[in-house]
Amino acid sequence: MSDCSFIPTAPAIEATGAAQEELHLRAVTATRAHFGNRVFVRAVVEASNYCRQNCAYCGMRRDNRSLARFRAEADQLAGLLIHHRPESVTDVNIQTGEDPVAAREVVLPLVRTLRRETSLGISVCLGNLGPALYAELQEAGATTYIMKFEMAGPARYERFHAPGTLANRIRHIRMLADSGWNVSSGFIAGLPGQTTPDLLTNLALSKTLPLSGCSVSPFIPGDETPLRDAAGSDVNRTLNSMAAMRLMRPDWVIPSVSALNLAQPGQGYRRGLRTGANLVTINLTPEEMRGNYLLYKRDRFIMTEERILGAIESEGLTPSTQSLADYLQSRRPMPEARREPELAAAQG
Ligand code: SF4
Repeated sequence: MSDCSFIPTAPAIEATGAAQEELHLRAVTATRAHFGNRVFVRAVVEASNYCRQNCAYCGMRRDNRSLARFRAEADQLAGLLIHHRPESVTDVNIQTGEDPVAAREVVLPLVRTLRRETSLGISVCLGNLGPALYAELQEAGATTYIMKFEMAGPARYERFHAPGTLANRIRHIRMLADSGWNVSSGFIAGLPGQTTPDLLTNLALSKTLPLSGCSVSPFIPGDETPLRDAAGSDVNRTLNSMAAMRLMRPDWVIPSVSALNLAQPGQGYRRGLRTGANLVTINLTPEEMRGNYLLYKRDRFIMTEERILGAIESEGLTPSTQSLADYLQSRRPMPEARREPELAAAQG
């Protein structure tokens, strides 16, 4: 059983010096106790930068008219993932702006092909869609849906034009979990005006949701967003939030997000691995599309295979040979119909 009794506090979020070192060490110790030295390695492909939403913190918002929009070809991404993925990759995350056309015309056939041709675990991060499309994606073979709630607090959610309403976002997270998806969520640390109590509210909300994983992403003021002149996040509070999340939920899969290296160049990503992260992501988006997948800045810090494996090795960690999808599947309660015969067999 996981000890989920840790309650995040303001001193933990604001910890510096020796107190911070102790917090991070506790988080890493909890991670190792639960997952050993294994880190899940997934690839991400960014399949469309069209988006019908208008989040103030994101360069792909619909009002950014200077962005060249693209939808990838399913066949191109399939070829890349089937024939050219790094050996360490066990899972893939297919990500788009909120673009139902791409979800249907690119992601769905891509998931079907990958399910047929590979044993990769498949995650998708496609925004708010509808129950029918969620079901089709699941039927095609995707098992994890990433849907970040971005920030707790409905008024702040509205102020930053996060997708739809917070209540609806949470409804979708619950709907996905209820229909058998593994759901991973996440929030942004360091948005303008965000206080320590706000970060604690984010952590508290995440704990109430039916999740198998969660992320903390540092706010990076995007060049082509209304927040371009805002101050970026304090990387220490972001990492302290990650550590607190790990202690709150030792069993969650927590990624070290690439934006940590924008928040603290050269160090942020590895510090994430020292703060409880156990998932890393290699970016396999074709080079000609990457520049226009504009979450923050055009000059992206691309997590290549070499950078990822180097970071893992430097931290004394090893890539997991079990896929994230298989790991999550192994944790699911066995259906009653299967459990009884298997229990009887186990008892001889
Ligand atoms: S954060 Fe996602 S939903 Fe919001 S504008 Fe960017 S791509 Fe669209």
